[in-house]
Amino acid sequence: MDASTPHESYNLDIQTPAGNLTASVSVPTGLIPISDIIPLMRSLGEQAHQLAIDNTTRTGATISCQKGCAACCRMMIPVAPPEAFALRTVVEALPSTKKGPLLERFQSAQKTLREAGIEEGLHRLAFSEDQVTDDELEPINRAYYALRMPCPFLEDEVCSIYKHRPSACRELLVTSPAELCQDLIRNPVNLIPAPFRIGTVLSTLWADCFQGPIRLIPLPFALDWAKTWESRNTRTWAGTELLNRALNAAAQFLQRQSP
Ligand code: SF4
Repeated sequence: MDASTPHESYNLDIQTPAGNLTASVSVPTGLIPISDIIPLMRSLGEQAHQLAIDNTTRTGATISCQKGCAACCRMMIPVAPPEAFALRTVVEALPSTKKGPLLERFQSAQKTLREAGIEEGLHRLAFSEDQVTDDELEPINRAYYALRMPCPFLEDEVCSIYKHRPSACRELLVTSPAELCQDLIRNPVNLIPAPFRIGTVLSTLWADCFQGPIRLIPLPFALDWAKTWESRNTRTWAGTELLNRALNAAAQFLQRQSP
């Protein structure tokens, strides 16, 4: 967000399962597209996750995740619609020497999914106007992970867009031995749960703004989806309204998680 435009500041106090999150945030009072709220919401998500990390490390556990270990970059990464627009912007800004091979890897990923017979189900997740249920999602997730297909953004086992990676990628931290992550289906891993999953929060915000399903787009289809729906990212809201709606989406998420 542009710091030179008028902003309004808020002090937030959010009860999360990991503890009380207090944060000062600032949003433009003028009109912004939905993707402009991502950095603020990711920052809140990271602060909430830090509470959970602190709770865990206080018990003596240590985080096993390190640069160069990309076991979880073989899972199906769900991308919220606003994040799909942001990813497309990042990719469009790449020099052609990087963008060309990257787009080829996206094509190759889609071909692998097609040959494995799961492209149609994944395409439905990305584009259907119906709400996809967890029961429908589960077998698709498993079939995707069984392929151990590296994410198109992965280069030499390192994320090539690390600063811009989707929220779902930021929320995967384990304290169990890293080698257990080579088979996340068979092995028990100790995940440090994120108090709220920002991808789901952003998707709920999207559903509220456009009256559609809570959509999580499989990463290999995120660029296609953003291109198809690019006109929707030209719609704008007052930053303050968007923040209020996003906080409502976060509150709904927390409510759904509460026992
Ligand atoms: S975007 Fe980056 S961190 Fe996320 S799965 Fe792909 S390579 Fe891994």
